[in-house]
Amino acid sequence: MTVAKGREFLSIPGPTNVPDAVLAAMQRPAIDIYSGEMIGITDSCLADLKELFRTRGRTYIYAANGHGGWEAAASNVLSRGDTVLVLESGRFALGWGEMAKMMGVEMEVLKGDWRRAVDPAAVTERLKRDKAHAIKALLIAQIDTASGVANDIAAIRMAMDAAKHPALLMVDCVASLGCMPFDMDGWGVDVAMAGSQKGLMTPPGLAFVAANDRARQVHKSAGLRTLYWDWTFREGEMHYQKYCGTPPEHLLFALRKAIDLLKEEGLPAAIRRHELLAEATRSAVAKWAEGQVLTFNITNPTERANSITCVLMQGRDPQPLLDYAREKCGVVLGVGLGDLDGKAFRIAHMGHTNAPMVLGTLGAVEMGLKALGIPHGSGGVQTAVEYLGREVRP
Ligand SMILES: *Cc1c(COP(=O)(O)O)cnc(C)c1O
Repeated sequence: MTVAKGREFLSIPGPTNVPDAVLAAMQRPAIDIYSGEMIGITDSCLADLKELFRTRGRTYIYAANGHGGWEAAASNVLSRGDTVLVLESGRFALGWGEMAKMMGVEMEVLKGDWRRAVDPAAVTERLKRDKAHAIKALLIAQIDTASGVANDIAAIRMAMDAAKHPALLMVDCVASLGCMPFDMDGWGVDVAMAGSQKGLMTPPGLAFVAANDRARQVHKSAGLRTLYWDWTFREGEMHYQKYCGTPPEHLLFALRKAIDLLKEEGLPAAIRRHELLAEATRSAVAKWAEGQVLTFNITNPTERANSITCVLMQGRDPQPLLDYAREKCGVVLGVGLGDLDGKAFRIAHMGHTNAPMVLGTLGAVEMGLKALGIPHGSGGVQTAVEYLGREVRP
């Protein structure tokens, strides 16, 4: 027996739920790539992305996924033989570093703990030892989707300044843009990148990069530039240069609509919504954790991300729970990645998400815990309901 009919709940950390209005915006014929409408969409999206990243620098849109955004960022500011320092706190900054390594860059990893945010003091300590300034850039994920950590980017910049180190600060915002505050200029971030399919509620296939003046200065002499990713080429006057070829029109129609929805809600309200739904999720997990099997992957409550919660299962394979949620309830949860493969599951509360989706997902998890006889504190969903009932006033 299953109770899985009806709309499937995709509770994985990307791609996330695409609003019907965004899907509908794609339901139209292709248009003239030289038309005023197409140029207007490009210009307005580039401008709105500046607001989302909070920068007066330049923004670029690529027909690519997040990995493409990583390559775009790396190729525009790095040269063969440069060293990048990867600030580990999960899987994603490492992936970015590995990509740079294959391009001919030396990758050094500032070893981190998958259960903690990056330690700013360790960053200062490492940079102080780099007297020759061999390290050209630091790579960090604001939210690491594998571990569920949220890093303090402003603190990382302060840690770099404390060491008086000139490296570029490069931040992966794929799982955080539109979900939590980001202040590129205010925090002194030189290069930021994101993707369309997480907090930005758009189908996968677009990557965004933002660069400040410092990064654009370094770009001038970067040795790894290629035409497709190249900022200078994309800053050209001709519209086709903005995409180095045909614009990914339908994804841009979708992006335009998704950003309109975000503006309608208001970015601060969207950020607050993520905070509330994340805290509701955490209140349920905290209740379940009383059974001594489930626990938060991120140990320090202030370092837990508002777009994803990673739940460790101590001494238990999470797969039966994932299978139960999918097959019996129609809820797709995220698997554990990398070091957490077979040890954790992840609940996304990112992008186009509301209370019933999160409470429904939590309900399916608790149902699975009961059905599979996994020890847990009962009433996690009730705790989440009560939390939201207190916080979301009439
Ligand atoms: C999803 C994700 C990526 C990778 O994006 P793809 O589109 O899968 O290439 C990179 N960084 C973070 C933090 C992510 O969550």
